[in-house]
Amino acid sequence: MDCIFCGIVAGTIPATVVKRSDEAMAFRDTDPKAPEHVLIIPTRHVPAVRNARGAEGEELLGRLMQFTATVASELGLDIDGYRIVTNTGPDAGQSVEHLHLHVLGGRKLGWPPG
Ligand code: AMP
Repeated sequence: MDCIFCGIVAGTIPATVVKRSDEAMAFRDTDPKAPEHVLIIPTRHVPAVRNARGAEGEELLGRLMQFTATVASELGLDIDGYRIVTNTGPDAGQSVEHLHLHVLGGRKLGWPPG
């Protein structure tokens, strides 16, 4: 399978890694949309949120969200705040078919997103 983010997990594609566990990884987005822009992914390939179903999906998403909150906290974003975004499918503009949560912070973020 040709997946950029699986390549980052395997270490064959370089990334600026922020945090890693057996089941999740956080690394800096190469095209940051805010002063802090980190991507959180499961280390196993799951295409998008819509594919994380049932008890297994529940556990995966719960643990991924907790990992994400820990990363945001370690980046010092707890006080001023941050946004967690996951784009799913073409209307949302998902460009990498490996589930990922964007953590955006370090500036005032507009709402609603475009
Ligand atoms: P999305 O458009 O929601 O699927 O987000 C994909 C994100 O992955 C974009 O913000 C890209 O800038 C980012 N991205 C693509 N390739 C890489 C890479 N090799 N390392 C880090 N971030 C990447």
